[in-house]
Amino acid sequence: MAAGETFAICISRVRNRAIRRALIAIRPDIEAAAADYVVKADNAELYRIPQVDPIGTVPGTEMVRTYDGRMAQKGQPGRPIYDRLKLLPDNDRCPFCDLRNVSTLDHFLPKQDYPIFAVTPVNLVGCCADCNKLKHAAIPMNANNTVLHPYFDDVTTQKWLAAVAVERAPAAVTFHVVEVDEWDVTLNARVVYQFELLRLAELYSRQAAHEIANIRANLCRHFEEGGAAAVRSELQWQWESRRRHQLNSWQTATYEALAKSDWFCGGGFTE
Ligand SMILES: [Zn+2]
Repeated sequence: MAAGETFAICISRVRNRAIRRALIAIRPDIEAAAADYVVKADNAELYRIPQVDPIGTVPGTEMVRTYDGRMAQKGQPGRPIYDRLKLLPDNDRCPFCDLRNVSTLDHFLPKQDYPIFAVTPVNLVGCCADCNKLKHAAIPMNANNTVLHPYFDDVTTQKWLAAVAVERAPAAVTFHVVEVDEWDVTLNARVVYQFELLRLAELYSRQAAHEIANIRANLCRHFEEGGAAAVRSELQWQWESRRRHQLNSWQTATYEALAKSDWFCGGGFTE
């Protein structure tokens, strides 16, 4: 979805001639900024993008209005593009927390601070309301303090999420980020930054506690049949199956942590 074309569609029904003329005049600025955005995002340099306001003769507030009133609002010309962008994340899953459903579009660079990207598709990411809120005021200040951009940054090929079992009843799991040798300092730092900003440790721990409660009866059955070894074998299979699907899901980390805990496999799963 091209930035210039999207912008032109969004402003296609502006009635006020002066505003319309001013908006049409800044299309080249929006296209140039979008091209620069892609280059910078590819190089993990979004923090270098300047905050421009006004854009030509158009104040930032008019760009925010273009998003709110001409793109996000139902029945407006930009709305079909809004809907298409919202459908991009796999399985309707928020790409930031990888857990909750997509319910909104996030301005990766906030529209109030970077109004030139208010309706630029590469800056619009479908995500959940919670991540949108937690991310809200997070402006990339430097290379390390930049959230991972779902369209540009891929951290799925290396293992960075890990968990450990808390070995006291009721069993629980805590999550942390592990450093990846194959990545540079910046990418490692960004993963930690995102993990903390979006409070993923707490979020995943709550999921894991629920999961442990769900599998308790099944583990009891394995334990009665074959003791700790049978429990471990079951957990290892669950881990392997999830690991093959997704290296860094909270489920994969949870099953790895549980399978590796002698305390858990030896009966720690009971209430
Ligand atoms: Zn989320």
